Amino acid sequence: MSAKVQWEKFMAPTYGTPSINLVSGKGLVVTDDQGKKYLDFLGGIATNVLGHAHPAIIRAVSNQISTLGHVSNFFSHPNAIALASELVSLAGDKSAKVFFCNSGAEANEAALKLSRKTGKKKIVATTGAFHGRTIGALSLTGQSSKRTPFLPLLGNIKHVPFGNTKAMARAVNRKTAMVIVEPIMGEAGVIVPPIGYLKSLRSICDKNGALLVFDCVQTGIGRTGQWFGFEHEMIKPDVITLAKGLGGGLPMGAMISLGNASQLFSPGDHGTTFGGNPIAASAGLAVLKTLKKEKLLARAKRFELLLKKRISKVKGVKEIRGQGLLIGIEFEEPKANAVRDLLLKKGVIVNAPSESVIRIAPALNVTQVQIEKFIKLFSEAVAEVHSG
Ligand SMILES: *Cc1c(COP(=O)(O)O)cnc(C)c1O
Repeated sequence: MSAKVQWEKFMAPTYGTPSINLVSGKGLVVTDDQGKKYLDFLGGIATNVLGHAHPAIIRAVSNQISTLGHVSNFFSHPNAIALASELVSLAGDKSAKVFFCNSGAEANEAALKLSRKTGKKKIVATTGAFHGRTIGALSLTGQSSKRTPFLPLLGNIKHVPFGNTKAMARAVNRKTAMVIVEPIMGEAGVIVPPIGYLKSLRSICDKNGALLVFDCVQTGIGRTGQWFGFEHEMIKPDVITLAKGLGGGLPMGAMISLGNASQLFSPGDHGTTFGGNPIAASAGLAVLKTLKKEKLLARAKRFELLLKKRISKVKGVKEIRGQGLLIGIEFEEPKANAVRDLLLKKGVIVNAPSESVIRIAPALNVTQVQIEKFIKLFSEAVAEVHSG
């Protein structure tokens, strides 16, 4: 039985049947069950920040699993404490506190529950945003295709257009518990808000006593060339949610609460069995240490500029946008699926979050040679799709 047939026989049909079956990876190269190699420019959707089989992650995880694999949250473990301390220091607020969980949806669920502890219930989020698939996170998500089959969702949540300060100011009032926004909307097609938008959210929330939550699940952990995707606006949110890149491929999420927000939860309010698991936390520590040691945030910024300069010249490309190595390439025509499929044939993995947008989110330790190879194959694929 082929992998495709087996997949359809045994896997819940929540995704389209995958066309390839990946069995191994090293750095940015993954190999399928036929031995064909691919350049991975999606990185497990912005997750494998250090690529595949990075020695630092292998070492940390192997050491940890042979020492102590799991403890309940009745007990502490040095890895979780060390990782929390690192995240507090990156958040730049000594009073910040970290709650560990296992995914982006769970990190946003934690933020949702935290906001209830303000005594208020109203939430404002943005149209098109993606915050996860559990009922709470889906209620925050602003995409009707994902929401409609599961109505009714949580009440008291209003969605306003992303990037529109006036609409946000009209929607937020004294009864608002929290505003949740992605610094760059990833799943919606790498949508970058106007300069000053994130800062204006800070002042709108301050005026109304609402928590400002930045969902950095996709834009965190160096992805944008900064530790968190909002930092270029020099503001501090009340809550930062993380997942994807944090575990470098292991399931790990976190909610960082800052300032007064860090005092809202009390013992018994929230929890999860695997949150802060020693193995996942060891991977998180290895990720942060390696990103710093190899200066990979600066590299993300450098390659952003290179990609923008070169890809903006490709015929048929309307715009290239994003920050660091979270990049959206928009075509003049809705040809993203065709380009994605042709790139896969040529041995490059990307995805198409919409009909006219290709997203790339390669590992931050991508090499110059790999960037050049991507630009070459991408340009060829676009030319072939447009002539064919
Ligand atoms: C992927 C993503 C999520 C959901 O994360 P899961 O780990 O799939 O639950 C939430 N928010 C953003 C911005 C994301 O990109």
